[in-house]
Amino acid sequence: MAYDDTNIFAKILRGDIPCTRVAEDDHTLAFEDINPARAVHVLVIPKGAYTDWRDFAATATAEEQVAFTRMIAHVAELTGIAEKGYRVISNIGRDGHQEVPHLHMHVLGGEATGPLVDRS
Ligand code: AMP
Repeated sequence: MAYDDTNIFAKILRGDIPCTRVAEDDHTLAFEDINPARAVHVLVIPKGAYTDWRDFAATATAEEQVAFTRMIAHVAELTGIAEKGYRVISNIGRDGHQEVPHLHMHVLGGEATGPLVDRS
């Protein structure tokens, strides 16, 4: 899938719309989810134009991939959920129910996160 630079996270990265920033480095931005599903719900995104995990794994630089991985752990420390535990989710494509076509990791915690997936 070609990257669509009109997606909402591309607009956040350009500064066209605001976000509540949690952390940032040269390659990565972390901000609060606008509709939190748990007490802590932070989105971690690469600053580069990557649609999903497949795209990122295949084409991002090693430096970008390291920064992204470390930012997830950093966010858990910053938000105080690292010790008690948390969940990291990336929704990919249609079956993964991905709504925003810019790679993002959901970092969820601050309370029990529940079953891994809905089995109904
Ligand atoms: P996904 O289904 O994995 O693509 O999730 C997209 C997430 O982006 C949802 O949890 C939304 O609540 C969140 N979201 C959408 N628009 C914004 C926004 N402007 N600021 C922060 N989070 C957003």
